[in-house]
Amino acid sequence: LTLRDTPKCETCFRFIVLITDPSLMRVFSGIQPTGVPHLGNYLGALESWVSLQNEYSSVLYSIVDLHSITQPQDPQLLRESILDMAASLLACGIDPARSILFQQSVVSEHAELCWILGCLTSMPRLRHLPQWKMKSKQKNEGSVGLYTYPVLQAADILLYKATHVPVGEDQVQHLELAQDLARIFNNKYGELFPEPRALLSSTRKVKSLRDPSCKMSKSDPQKFATIFLTDTPEDIVFKIRRAVTDFTSEVTFDPEGRPGVSNLVSLHAAVSGLTVEDVLIQARGLDTGKYKSLVSEAVVQRLQPIRLEIQRLRADRGHLLSVLAEGGAKARSLAAPVMTEVRKRVGFS
Ligand code: ATP
Ligand code: MN
Repeated sequence: LTLRDTPKCETCFRFIVLITDPSLMRVFSGIQPTGVPHLGNYLGALESWVSLQNEYSSVLYSIVDLHSITQPQDPQLLRESILDMAASLLACGIDPARSILFQQSVVSEHAELCWILGCLTSMPRLRHLPQWKMKSKQKNEGSVGLYTYPVLQAADILLYKATHVPVGEDQVQHLELAQDLARIFNNKYGELFPEPRALLSSTRKVKSLRDPSCKMSKSDPQKFATIFLTDTPEDIVFKIRRAVTDFTSEVTFDPEGRPGVSNLVSLHAAVSGLTVEDVLIQARGLDTGKYKSLVSEAVVQRLQPIRLEIQRLRADRGHLLSVLAEGGAKARSLAAPVMTEVRKRVGFS
């Protein structure tokens, strides 16, 4: 790296280190084992997880069970959900030969780094972050874990010195905290962590089918709001038929004014690989009722092979366990030296 050509940050005047060497780039992302992934997870994150395996030499995907217990979880169910999530990810195309697929809690360094980063985070910094605002409201109170969730997320990313983080739009502010914490740590203890960048897919946010002002979520208790990757064609047809739209029968794309119909248009475009314009041409002359059948058909076609593959993989627990064991060992071996360095910098050793 030559510093002469390196830009400086306009606020702190420090050099911005641009990493352009692909061998120094690393992708990290996570998903909570809070249920079967849904169409939003798939279009907002998982689909790009799959293609990133071909673009980066170092790729880690974590089933973030530590995050999942920020909401109450039944232990037996959680154990099953972790394996189910492994099956879903493999079915989507995550390939353990090209990426490290692992369970977060088997690498205890995540929790250790989270503690250290938490000591560098102010309370007010966390108060306005989306996960807390959304999920603490539902229960009128939230745990300390739910409050500091984004700090754990920062630890997940920095522990591997990840440079690129594919996420949906709901995670952008959390990622900004990870960037801040990398900077804060580096300022205090000397340059160690690269500032991770968000990679957003073109479908940043799939909305709930029942309430298009909210995002589609695994943990949404509302029935028919969410299309899961394991839904049968009948489930999908039924849920889309009941999707909230409005009183205009024509199909147009206007996310602000007509969020319900526009959500269907954008997920239709995403699953069929068409542009929004092309989808609107297909929908010309159809009322929303008829259009919904077209959307269902496209979604079924896209999800059917994934659903069948999840079924097949779920039946093979031994295979899932061995994939996770191998991934866990690889992740541990990457995390350990970084954590050793962190302990040294902080003054523990
Ligand atoms: P939970 O309700 O338990 O929080 P979730 O559906 O929000 O589950 P997460 O495991 O929290 O899923 O997130 C996994 C990934 O999916 C993240 O990258 C997140 O940004 C992305 N994601 C989640 N929901 C959507 C959505 N509706 N549209 C696009 N991306 C999404
Ligand atoms: Mn979430």
